[in-house]
Amino acid sequence: MSARTAPPLVLKFGGAALADPAPVLARIRAARRGGRPVVVVVSARARVTDRLLEAARHPADRARHRRILRAIEEDHPGLLEPGRRQIERLGRLLREIESGASPDPPTIDRLLSQGERIAAHWLAGHLRRAGLPAVPVESDHLGLITDNAYGASCIVFERSRAPVRRGLSRVLASGGVPVVTGFFGRSLEGRVATLGRGGSDYAAAAIGALLGSRRVELVKRQVAVLTADPREVPDARPIPALSYEEAEELAQFGARVLHPLTIEPARAHRLVLTVRSLDDPRRATTIGPGRPGRRNRAITSLRPLHLVRLRVPGGRQRPGIVADVARRLRTGGVNVVQLFTSSALLCLVLEPGGTATALRTLRSLTTDDAAVLEGPVPVALVTVIGDGVLDDLDRLPAEAVRGAEGLSATPRALSLAVPARRRTRVVRALHRSLVGGGRR
Ligand code: ASP
Ligand code: MG
Repeated sequence: MSARTAPPLVLKFGGAALADPAPVLARIRAARRGGRPVVVVVSARARVTDRLLEAARHPADRARHRRILRAIEEDHPGLLEPGRRQIERLGRLLREIESGASPDPPTIDRLLSQGERIAAHWLAGHLRRAGLPAVPVESDHLGLITDNAYGASCIVFERSRAPVRRGLSRVLASGGVPVVTGFFGRSLEGRVATLGRGGSDYAAAAIGALLGSRRVELVKRQVAVLTADPREVPDARPIPALSYEEAEELAQFGARVLHPLTIEPARAHRLVLTVRSLDDPRRATTIGPGRPGRRNRAITSLRPLHLVRLRVPGGRQRPGIVADVARRLRTGGVNVVQLFTSSALLCLVLEPGGTATALRTLRSLTTDDAAVLEGPVPVALVTVIGDGVLDDLDRLPAEAVRGAEGLSATPRALSLAVPARRRTRVVRALHRSLVGGGRR
């Protein structure tokens, strides 16, 4: 296959990685050596999405909107005319929400999408000035199609494939480097829809899958993927290679390196994701098919969470009790983070925002005298992730298990609900015995 028709390499730059255009340019140039086609995906620059969310939370606060608009303009020095038009468009959107009621989710998504649009024009402008034929591409216009779940939408692959391939091939065929906005697409009903916080990783993996790429590189500022949060475990160290399944668990259990949906398109299309540090490009984590015999362990923690205990006499003998609990919680919009059960005891780990509703809707299950509903107990959910983690059960340190409120495990993730105040001690103890101290 000639370099011309080879599937492109997708390079995604996160907000912090866009701090300075020079290393971004260097990375793109290096990737294009030998004529390899490259597609760039960008998220908004650092802090911009937060500023836009703040504006949406204060829809009528005109003075705040002016400040935010100015700050976002200052976040993009050297913006050329097409980028300025995106700033003006943001100004118009802000005025629009000032005059109305609280913005609905599609309107918020339209506002949020301006961060990526401005970033794509800003970066393309800098790249062009340096002689690289960059072409900004807005993903909703391109035809990256999503469902209608505004704020947390999913990409609809069958609908996106033809337009995304057609649009990007056209730019690539003319020798250009598309700079595509991450984080959002166009919903089935034709409106802007965002993919959830950190969604540019997911967009980049999806675009790679749609183009038939073999590799998508997620360029981040500092980190590759580490064995723990370095703020909690000072001797946490990089993990060179993860299986798709391990990476998926890591993203779900609170390692904030990847958007949780990123792995799915990669696994389905057998493409390799590389998480690379911009500051030290030798630091990278590769995510691909698992390899027998490889042993990875990473420790994550989710918090603050609440644990609620429901004790129903007869418990599981009562047909449909778990389904009944689940239905009540779903009706109340309560998200269950984790569930531990024995025959008469059900322990639910919840996000604190859902606790009051959960207690209210479960109360009527406890009409029987012997039934109990207790909580909330403040807990953290500490998880050990790695293929074959059940082999480590005999090495769990007493320090980690003491006082635990529940435990659940699959062959690749073992979670303990521990009292909130013991979290750091538990994470460190697990890291010491299952990962091992010291840098390699
Ligand atoms: N800009 C969006 C966010 O801050 C998407 C991303 O960074 O991937 O969540
Ligand atoms: Mg980001």
